[in-house]
Amino acid sequence: MRLRAPQRTGVVFFPAFDWAIDPTHPEREERLLYTRDQIFEEGLLDIEGVVEYPPRVAAMADVERVHTGVPDLETHTSPSHLVSAGGAIEAARRVLDGDVERAFALVRPPGHHARRVVHGLRGFCVINIEAVMIEHLRSHYGDLRVAVVDTDCHHGDGTQDIYWHDPDTLFISIHQDGRTLYPGSGFPDEFGGPNAFGTTLNIPLPPGTTDDGLLHVVDHLVLPVLEEWKPDLVVNSAGQDNHFTDPITDMAITAQGYATLTRRLRAHVAVLEGGYSVQSALPYVNTGILLAMAGLDTSAVVEPDYHPDLLRMGERSRQYIERLCELMLEKFLRRDALRAEAVRGRTHLEETRSVFYDGAGIREQQHERVRVCDDCGGAVVLESWENPARKVLTVELPRRCCPACRAQGEDAFHRATTDEYALVELHDRPHDRVERKRRAGG
Ligand SMILES: [Zn+2]
Ligand SMILES: [Zn+2]
Repeated sequence: MRLRAPQRTGVVFFPAFDWAIDPTHPEREERLLYTRDQIFEEGLLDIEGVVEYPPRVAAMADVERVHTGVPDLETHTSPSHLVSAGGAIEAARRVLDGDVERAFALVRPPGHHARRVVHGLRGFCVINIEAVMIEHLRSHYGDLRVAVVDTDCHHGDGTQDIYWHDPDTLFISIHQDGRTLYPGSGFPDEFGGPNAFGTTLNIPLPPGTTDDGLLHVVDHLVLPVLEEWKPDLVVNSAGQDNHFTDPITDMAITAQGYATLTRRLRAHVAVLEGGYSVQSALPYVNTGILLAMAGLDTSAVVEPDYHPDLLRMGERSRQYIERLCELMLEKFLRRDALRAEAVRGRTHLEETRSVFYDGAGIREQQHERVRVCDDCGGAVVLESWENPARKVLTVELPRRCCPACRAQGEDAFHRATTDEYALVELHDRPHDRVERKRRAGG
């Protein structure tokens, strides 16, 4: 008898067998080879109600909606990146079109370390495939309230940066504590910009966190927050480098842990991010995620190296996680009052920061100024430079931009000259348009 999935589930597979950072890098050609074999051998694609869709190719316009590239986006974006992002778009569209209830984009290259401005490779990423997907959906399906739950072992700092000022995107990142792992950020006090306070939540976990610890966060923080915030669409950035065999991290999550997380989270779309235990983890974790999305039994999914006695979490870590969830939930529920305190008497907030590109050896400087606004996400003016002679200015007008923020943002764009900046961009979200001024020969 043919197995039948209680929940119709789409799978988009793009292993990018011809794309790698370099042959010995963890993000290399064969990363999804064993996963593909396992999915075929287990007959997962023969299950009635599990449907494979080919990826589409994202357009450059999809990428431009989200990113400003220095010197331009074409320099950084390979065909593999467009198919990876297009795979995520295809998965999500199948869900929104009602062809399937859930979908899993099993794609690479990954994207969650890619920020608004792109100077090069950071944390194996150049374009943010989830953000490209979400903004594509909004431009085709209208305003959607989207929650991104990033369960990759690394802090999703790129996605956080892109949605920092967006009150309509809730970003929750659960990751190994940044004091012990790249990129070194993702702490509880990173809580969202002045007009989107409380829509960024970071849950740093101690090294050695087990399934029990991760699932405690899901049950006692993520699910109550989603219940309160009521997103239209839940996206799981489904990185798998929390696995106990992952070579570049220190966590203790199993394929069963991922399967249970998937079942409880009930994300509409899962998008693969990291995960570098190519043979010992990815085939099992991906099988578990796919079966759980389809509503099927996952109890037989067990890694060959699985020894439960070796995966125990200390009492101090358990208490820390419980307390952190209580504090974060309390803070989330008080976010409006906390925001009022934080912006009292302020018309703008300014920040300078420095961003390191480990893959390109570049240090970028940024200066950002955002209008404090009760009516929209606020006009954001962002200066970025690696070389001070080639500064870039990008202005963001948010979706549902209010007239006052539009006036300030357009003014900043029109006043900026190409004598001062090598590139000036206006991202006009309400009109789904990017305007650009470029210095001649720059
Ligand atoms: Zn990762
Ligand atoms: Zn406004």
